Amino acid sequence: MKQQMSLQTEIAAQEPVLRPLLQEYHKIPSSYIKEVADIKRVLERWVADPAFELDFNKSPKEAIASLGVAVTPEEIYPLINAEESIKLVNSMIAGDYTRFPLSTYRYKSFIAEKLEQRKRIRDESRCSNPEISTWRDRQIKRCVNELGLAKSDAIVHPPVAFELSKGCTVGCWFCGIDAAKFSSNWSYTPENALLWNEVLLVVKDFLGTSIKNGFLYWATDPLDNPEYEKFLIDFFAVTGRCAQTTTALSIKDVDRTRTLLNFNRSLDLHIDRFSVLSLNMLKTIHASFTPEELIKVECIPQNREAKGKQLKSNAGRARIYAAKKSDELTKGQQGDTIACVSGFLFNMPDKEVRLVTPCQANDQWPLGYWVLGKAKFNSAADLKQILHEMVNKHMKIYLRLEDRIQLRQDIKWYTRENEFILNSSQLSVTFANQKNPTALMRMLETGDYTVEEIALTREKYDAINMSVTLYLLDELFSGGFIREDPNFKTDRIALKEKISLQITL
Ligand code: SF4
Repeated sequence: MKQQMSLQTEIAAQEPVLRPLLQEYHKIPSSYIKEVADIKRVLERWVADPAFELDFNKSPKEAIASLGVAVTPEEIYPLINAEESIKLVNSMIAGDYTRFPLSTYRYKSFIAEKLEQRKRIRDESRCSNPEISTWRDRQIKRCVNELGLAKSDAIVHPPVAFELSKGCTVGCWFCGIDAAKFSSNWSYTPENALLWNEVLLVVKDFLGTSIKNGFLYWATDPLDNPEYEKFLIDFFAVTGRCAQTTTALSIKDVDRTRTLLNFNRSLDLHIDRFSVLSLNMLKTIHASFTPEELIKVECIPQNREAKGKQLKSNAGRARIYAAKKSDELTKGQQGDTIACVSGFLFNMPDKEVRLVTPCQANDQWPLGYWVLGKAKFNSAADLKQILHEMVNKHMKIYLRLEDRIQLRQDIKWYTRENEFILNSSQLSVTFANQKNPTALMRMLETGDYTVEEIALTREKYDAINMSVTLYLLDELFSGGFIREDPNFKTDRIALKEKISLQITL
């Protein structure tokens, strides 16, 4: 132990204990990257393979050696044992880097950096256009409330995604967005390349620099398109960032994947992702790429054996298997969605754009996202007009007096003296100091009243100044509590239909 500590002190004297590996990737010594990458490899196998876990528990050194990495069991224990893990975190909080192997601290710091990066990307994806950014902020708040803190923390709400194929060849049974069977690719012809670059510039006009957090797949696998890399290079040229790649086809053509990873690594700090569909696939990935090559690649364990440690979202096609494969899926109403975009979703072969945002997957929205608008375009000029219309129609900054409003349908409310409480399946929010909250809740529940009518009614019957009600309603709207799903129309309803309702208040 003494030896270990003096060695660590020595290393610390030469270079900082912890380095931002993602941010300063090109400046980090290769020995540092190797330490972290080797630990990452052991954990990838530990999460995905119960047989490896058994071997590790019986004979940790031999189990690790079988992976061909130079890691000791002591480097791994604090990362898989709950009690040790707490001690590790506490010692990092205290700034004490002597209790565990230095490499373990470095791995943990790498994970923290990835989480930080996720937060940074969410912040960066907020664009300068006030309508779009206010709308997106509201959807983020709604998602926190509707999907829960843990799930919503993992969603960065990128403002745009582009599909470069129609359908997907992989056909995962758990596909959360129920990708159609593959039918065609969008080729990088001179004509398409021109349109592609024009589309990117139009979208950039709307989203500003936040376009850089877009990506080039959705219900598609990017590597299905043999010219994906050409589109990616254009995306980089226009946005200044190489879009993240997520693929389930990482081992279909290892040389192609390696070239792509090298290209991505050479450009910036993004994380790429491999979807791991089977244990054999993980073994092939590990045999094909060194741990260092995969330092910026998350291997997502989707294989059946990982079920105890990694559940898939009960959304899209997975919903069909909810009973049969229940041990691999979340139980429903737990933030079930794999959708992440709050913004524009393009299918380039169809020249179609949709306005989407994540939601809990249910019978109404089985794919776990709303489609608020959809249109086809033939040219960049066309697209510009369409995006303007989508923004004007769906992305309000404030409620208008004439808007008919209703609480979100998943919200249950109750009142207590001078407060009302809004409960969703995941969170409960209390609004205190409210006069006659029950009357307000009843009006908001029916969805039959406009903002103005609610404010006037409260002024007349409860002597609440209109401005107070307008402020409160706007607070509820910007907090994501008021319905914006595509099935709700905010137009006025005929007065006579309301008279009977008014009497019941
Ligand atoms: S999860 Fe991804 S790879 Fe699998 S079918 Fe859906 S889009 Fe294709």
